Amino acid sequence: MEQYTASVEMKKPVFSTRLEFADAHCHLNLFNDAKKVMMDSRDMGVSTIITAGGCRKDNRENAELASIDGIFAVVGVSPDFSSSDSAEVETLEKLVKSSRKIVGIGEIGIDVKVAKGNGLELQEEVFARQVRIAKDMGLPVVLHSRGALDKVMGVLDRECMRGAMFHFFEGDAKQAVDIAAKGHFISIPPAETGKRKKVIKAVGLDSIVVETDSPIVGKTPTDVIKVCEMIALIKGVGVEDVAARTTENIRRLFFI
Ligand SMILES: [Zn+2]
Repeated sequence: MEQYTASVEMKKPVFSTRLEFADAHCHLNLFNDAKKVMMDSRDMGVSTIITAGGCRKDNRENAELASIDGIFAVVGVSPDFSSSDSAEVETLEKLVKSSRKIVGIGEIGIDVKVAKGNGLELQEEVFARQVRIAKDMGLPVVLHSRGALDKVMGVLDRECMRGAMFHFFEGDAKQAVDIAAKGHFISIPPAETGKRKKVIKAVGLDSIVVETDSPIVGKTPTDVIKVCEMIALIKGVGVEDVAARTTENIRRLFFI
């Protein structure tokens, strides 16, 4: 974090401007004290947090947390719950309408790792239904895709869905460029790999958002600062640019 301090000789009051960061994806309801996590994050400059649901319980808890300033929720039925919680899909529209702080449908998608219990066909069907709900309501979707990028893209294209955020993007540079060209966003988590480095290099800052997936991957939402620093280093730009652009992108994507 950089601080700018006015020169004392100018006899102006000392001031500092702080960088503003935004965590595009975490699971605040999984923390013991989500409110404290939010306050601590805000102290560090992470002033906007999108907390993601994925099953009935998580959707309700995150919807409630979204009443806190700076917190926004997305609700949906994730691949893990596509068989056990598929009735929840029917309630999403009503849930979204219950709060203006619920700003998207997620995390939803296809995951080959959980395909054993929830067949891929069922996952795809539950996913497509939710994409249609998002599209009808003019909302963005937060995607969970593991080993299924082509299938996920197939559904988005078929449904003519615009405004998707690829949570924990797992694809390669070429796929990232194609996805960005369609107006979607690539979300970068706090996990550096050679493949991800190439993705960051290949895609413009206009199409990148940053996330922590905390507490599952990152420790807290403040880990977005590290992600911004990593991107700044790889792209050879200032961390203030990365913070400003990624925060702006999240506001643009979720209309907040
Ligand atoms: Zn997640």
